[in-house]
Amino acid sequence: MPPRVDNVKCDGCRNEREALCELICPGNLMALDTETNKGYCRSPRDCWDCMSCTKICPKGAIETRIPYQLGYYSAKLVPFTGTGKMTWTVVDIDGKVERFTFRTRNK
Ligand code: SF4
Ligand code: SF4
Repeated sequence: MPPRVDNVKCDGCRNEREALCELICPGNLMALDTETNKGYCRSPRDCWDCMSCTKICPKGAIETRIPYQLGYYSAKLVPFTGTGKMTWTVVDIDGKVERFTFRTRNK
């Protein structure tokens, strides 16, 4: 499922030279709306769920909705990148929350 941007959390990467979601998307699909200064996916049908934008967002503003075949629309997967580790928060269709933390190669 294409990324969903929380417009309250997104600050347009104001401390960066360029919106990080726009910078990292390998398909050039993420962009910064010049009117709202919020990130968005300009072609959701072309997104292949690599989750690069979701993982890099410094505000945790991007969610990946789990495809309905796996979890229906209310299920979601939200990563949080820390120093040397990444935590994935999984919310199932009943609202049950589980978190998984893995070490990464990032220092
Ligand atoms: S999930 Fe991957 S392909 Fe889809 S918009 Fe984000 S970075 Fe681009
Ligand atoms: S990376 Fe996150 S905070 Fe930055 S523009 Fe994209 S959605 Fe907004």
